Amino acid sequence: MNLQAELKKHFGFDAFKGDQEEIIQSVISGNDTFVIMPTGGGKSLCYQLPALIHEGTAIVISPLIALMKNQVDSIRGHSEDDFVAHFLNSSLNKAEQIVVKDDLRAGRTKLLYVAPETLNKKETIDFFKELTISFVAVDEAHCISEWGHDFRPEYRRIKEMIKGINSKIPVMALTATATPKVQGDIQKNLGMSDARVFKASFNRTNLFYEVRPKVELAKQLIRFVKERQGKSGIVYCLSRKKVEEIAETLQVNGIKALPYHAGFDAGTRAKNQDMFLNEDVDVIVATIAFGMGIDKPDVRFVIHHDMPKSLEGYYQETGRAGRDGGEGHCLAFYDYKDIEKLEKFMQGKPISEQEVGKQLLEEVVAYAETAMSRRKFLLHYFGEEFDEENGEGAKMDDNAVNPRPREEGSKWVKMLLDCVAELKETAKAKYIIEILTGVSNSQIKSFRHDTIKSFGAGKEKDKKFWMAVIRQTTVGKLLIKDIETYGVLKLGEKGKEFIANPQPFTVILDHDYIERAEDDNLILNTKAQGSAMDDKLYQLLKDLTRSVAKDNNVPPFVVFQEPSLMDMANQYPITLEELANIQGVGQGKANKYGASFVSTIADYVEENDIERAQDIVVKSVVNKSGTKVYIIQNIDRKRPLEDIAKARDMSMEDLLTEIENIVESGTKVNLDYYLGDAVDEDKQDELYDYFMEDAETGTIEEAMEELKDEDYSEEEIRLMRIKFMSEVAN
Ligand code: ADP
Repeated sequence: MNLQAELKKHFGFDAFKGDQEEIIQSVISGNDTFVIMPTGGGKSLCYQLPALIHEGTAIVISPLIALMKNQVDSIRGHSEDDFVAHFLNSSLNKAEQIVVKDDLRAGRTKLLYVAPETLNKKETIDFFKELTISFVAVDEAHCISEWGHDFRPEYRRIKEMIKGINSKIPVMALTATATPKVQGDIQKNLGMSDARVFKASFNRTNLFYEVRPKVELAKQLIRFVKERQGKSGIVYCLSRKKVEEIAETLQVNGIKALPYHAGFDAGTRAKNQDMFLNEDVDVIVATIAFGMGIDKPDVRFVIHHDMPKSLEGYYQETGRAGRDGGEGHCLAFYDYKDIEKLEKFMQGKPISEQEVGKQLLEEVVAYAETAMSRRKFLLHYFGEEFDEENGEGAKMDDNAVNPRPREEGSKWVKMLLDCVAELKETAKAKYIIEILTGVSNSQIKSFRHDTIKSFGAGKEKDKKFWMAVIRQTTVGKLLIKDIETYGVLKLGEKGKEFIANPQPFTVILDHDYIERAEDDNLILNTKAQGSAMDDKLYQLLKDLTRSVAKDNNVPPFVVFQEPSLMDMANQYPITLEELANIQGVGQGKANKYGASFVSTIADYVEENDIERAQDIVVKSVVNKSGTKVYIIQNIDRKRPLEDIAKARDMSMEDLLTEIENIVESGTKVNLDYYLGDAVDEDKQDELYDYFMEDAETGTIEEAMEELKDEDYSEEEIRLMRIKFMSEVAN
């Protein structure tokens, strides 16, 4: 059969991609066939084409009910008849099922997608027995293994179900993520140890990998995206809340971004997705719900705002960058605290699941902290060798561009391997490090391991150093990590050789993100406390405040208050836009009183040759909390304050405090509709005059003290102060 002609006829493609042709040949010849290919490699065609040209119906088992319809539609798109492909799952009603079954009985349908749950039913199996089945394709076959990242117990029964139909049906398994352990599980479980295995390289040579510590995240993110203006990118976050928050932060900073997560209704999701595909927006901020089945070829960057739960997930998500072979920058932000959070989420799950989850996370941490070639690390994880000096895609990661310190470490490697041998290959990394660094605990004592030769032998090096050595010797196959025993380290063949005949071994020191993160926090905090404030400029601005107040016939506190002036003397805003980002300054205030301030600051910066730190000004949305937005909207609707307080379950006092904060941060609110009833008209005038004429600092405390002999309640004073500040200051 001329497969090339069939390819052209059914799909319109001129040539096969990768191993597709051999794979299809293998399936048609009736072999069990195992396909491991990274996302985007063209797996679907490997079962679709043989299904179309083979006699009978191919059954495709897929875990993703949501995607079945897409897959069926896409096949139908290549055919004149809808009956060529169907799906069978719990979403079909009775009438629809009848149509599907009629087409199947008549032998018209070439491809049938089923969910494993459906296949589990006896009536389904009985029905399938009546049909001619060409082969069964198990898509996303890694779901079979509990050692992978997406275990589905119902996948375990697939073999049994196939046997129930007819034990001679050829089986095909396909997956984009198979570590050697998972690969073994799939073959064992599907009873296809003799299958022909086609494993494509996982090396995506055009992708650049980078991991950065998670500090000043908004700034880093905005800068990164702005440097790639107009290019498409995806930002992945772990929670829906973060998705919305980050999308908003990008939006207010002038980046065309939209959020996407499963909590939105289908319409919104479809709309946001389309806007991304059609390039009406550049960036989509999403949970991992986004991307499956999406095939945008020119995604130029994929950012992980949080580290994912497994390297399989990471690899799949980063794999959406640069599908066209062009630039694809994969940037992940790492903070060990996020890993701890993920560990917490696992609590309450069955212990074995937790253990697997922890192992997957450990690999994520190792990847983030490693200083070796990231591509080598990833490929090793997927069971592939990589030459970090000359391999295709070498030098395409941050560690290669900015190499970390390294040292000759043959001595340490030998010490480690000896320790593993001395412990009779029974211990995990943590325990081995405790032995080497001479840290005793009850377990070590009870095994008398504190008396062995290795105990304390490596104490001149710290835990972190030893972890780096263990990772590098594992990737170098001197040590083998046994997955089934949750990470016990054994000696590999190369390790045994090394013990007998030590060789030079360069150890690269891992990143120390924790230390860096703390350093950076320190810098941030001192800045926030204002120690970096420019006193000379501050005095200038203070004087300016007085003169501007005078010119406008208002008290100085109405113009700018202390914290705002301090922030200006720290940030040096020189445009009204930048000024509006200063603490306690909104756009209204900036426009009203800001002009002379920014020009004064600009002159000052120029005269004193000041290098402004304001390379990137991040507009924050954090203080626009849900409550604040709610209050502003309801005041706009002229709702009585008591009702607003009640609806938000707040006291009147707290509500007033919130409104004061709103006004202080520069937003105008109009309470006139409420004041009419709440404060008598004479009192309104008197209080307004007080703030205009007599108040010095304008605080509530001062007003309470000054007016204590008169008949005003605190609430009245506060309400009128809000009105005054809104009208005069903002
Ligand atoms: P996977 O399932 O491995 O992630 P897909 O089956 O979705 O990959 O295929 C990825 C893309 O490659 C699809 O757009 C598909 O149409 C395209 N494709 C597959 N095979 C070929 C081929 N032989 N020639 C050109 N494009 C192909």
